[in-house]
Amino acid sequence: MTDLNQAALQQRMGSKVVPTEIDTLVIGAGQAGVAMSEHLSKLGVPHLVLEKNRIAEAWRSGRWDSLVANGPAWHDRFPGMEFDLDPDAFAPKDMVANYFEAYAKQFNAPIRTGVEVRKVTRNSDRPGFTVETSVGVIQANRVVSATGPFQRPVIPAIAPQDGALYQIHSAAYFNPQQLPEGGVLVVGAGSSGVQIADELNRSGRQVYLSVGAHDRPPRSYRNRDFCWWLGVLGLWDMEAAQPGKEHVTIAVSGARGGETIDFRRLAGEGITLVGLTKAFHNGGVSFQNDLADNLARGDENYLSLLDAADAYIARNGLDLPEEPEARRVYEDAECIRQPILELDLAAAGIRSIIWATGYAVDFSWLQVDAFDAQGKPQHQRGVSSEPGVYFVGLPWLSRRGSTFIWGVWHDAKHVADHIATQRKYAEYRDASQRQAEAVEPAQKVSLPGVR
Ligand SMILES: Cc1cc2nc3c(=O)[nH]c(=O)nc-3n(C[C@H](O)[C@H](O)[C@H](O)COP(=O)(O)OP(=O)(O)OC[C@H]3O[C@@H](n4cnc5c(N)ncnc54)[C@H](O)[C@@H]3O)c2cc1C
Repeated sequence: MTDLNQAALQQRMGSKVVPTEIDTLVIGAGQAGVAMSEHLSKLGVPHLVLEKNRIAEAWRSGRWDSLVANGPAWHDRFPGMEFDLDPDAFAPKDMVANYFEAYAKQFNAPIRTGVEVRKVTRNSDRPGFTVETSVGVIQANRVVSATGPFQRPVIPAIAPQDGALYQIHSAAYFNPQQLPEGGVLVVGAGSSGVQIADELNRSGRQVYLSVGAHDRPPRSYRNRDFCWWLGVLGLWDMEAAQPGKEHVTIAVSGARGGETIDFRRLAGEGITLVGLTKAFHNGGVSFQNDLADNLARGDENYLSLLDAADAYIARNGLDLPEEPEARRVYEDAECIRQPILELDLAAAGIRSIIWATGYAVDFSWLQVDAFDAQGKPQHQRGVSSEPGVYFVGLPWLSRRGSTFIWGVWHDAKHVADHIATQRKYAEYRDASQRQAEAVEPAQKVSLPGVR
């Protein structure tokens, strides 16, 4: 390529050099963006990944200090690289971030960090999309949103407007020392809420944990981790949540080598369990009287997995040791027998609230026809209703495993295949076009560092 062509195809702003044209633009370089880049590279699709922060930023700065992966290292990884860790251990969050950075390096992924995509619109006078970024405008034939399933922390409207209380979302929690002295109410008992509550309790805090509907698989059963069980029982591959279970969170933890989440055990260790948080009023908080029901449904889910595992072992004649103690039920603590329905926050010594209440997505920058009336992405396995626009990493994109490390890799493969197939259609020339092009060969350009 001549210097002139290169200048026309690239723009330089500060230290960032990005092309002005690209076939496929991937937005976001978390695990989803890295997986997309690997598959596009393998298929020879010229592409670029733009990341507003750093590679795998969510794992670096968007998670609490002591977090380890919820799945063991043999499972929570991409096929192309292993963790430098005992395969049954749980990788600390920074190791997960480093893993994705090293993974991207391994195939020289064309990632530009520190570049934010601000707006994507479909061109009206020519194919493709105009992409406005923090360093200039790029024309792309296709765009893949890999901006994450958990973008905007959600705190429900019931949160009290009480300046005296320290209130944060779980995304802003890092360690017990950041909270003011005193008790803590943790609202939400999915994997984040339950692990944060446990850590705070172990640090000597008085902790109240508000528990809603949840699934709580055994950490391991009969010498197999629950990730293995969900795999062999086909539960990772479920295409949609069971009706009525759409809002049921999953409580698992890899902390301290991995332990089954057992709310009765946590109550025995000093955490005060309460039902779903209902409302705040006059310095008080009220809870629904649903704690026993929520625990019972969690138990049901737990026991159903043990039963399914036993049946699988029997059916396949596997030699895995029996584990009757997995069915042991801890005694109900006082907070379960006599549920607290009202609490005076000051009298209970609660000075902080941690909202472990989940996340929403924000696609305000993606101004294309790929959303339904509620603003939900419309797609089939990531291929959106707007030709040329794709999603990866969304919850239930193709299956239950879609937001998980190993799951997004498979979804990205499908999306990359679709892109490669569409490129084939676009490249097709009929006989007269082929003849004309043979006379006047099209000038081919290549972008340095961009494959
Ligand atoms: C507390 C917690 C623990 C988890 N533990 C596990 C686990 O153990 N195992 C597992 O498999 N999964 C786990 N997950 C789920 C999932 O693996 C992570 O949420 C993961 O970060 C999702 O990866 P992603 O690439 O889809 O999104 P993200 O990691 O969120 O990456 C999206 C990237 O896009 C960038 N971006 C967003 N908008 C723009 C823009 N406009 N322009 C440029 N860049 C942009 C962001 O900066 C970000 O880096 C966990 C999730 C949470 C919240």
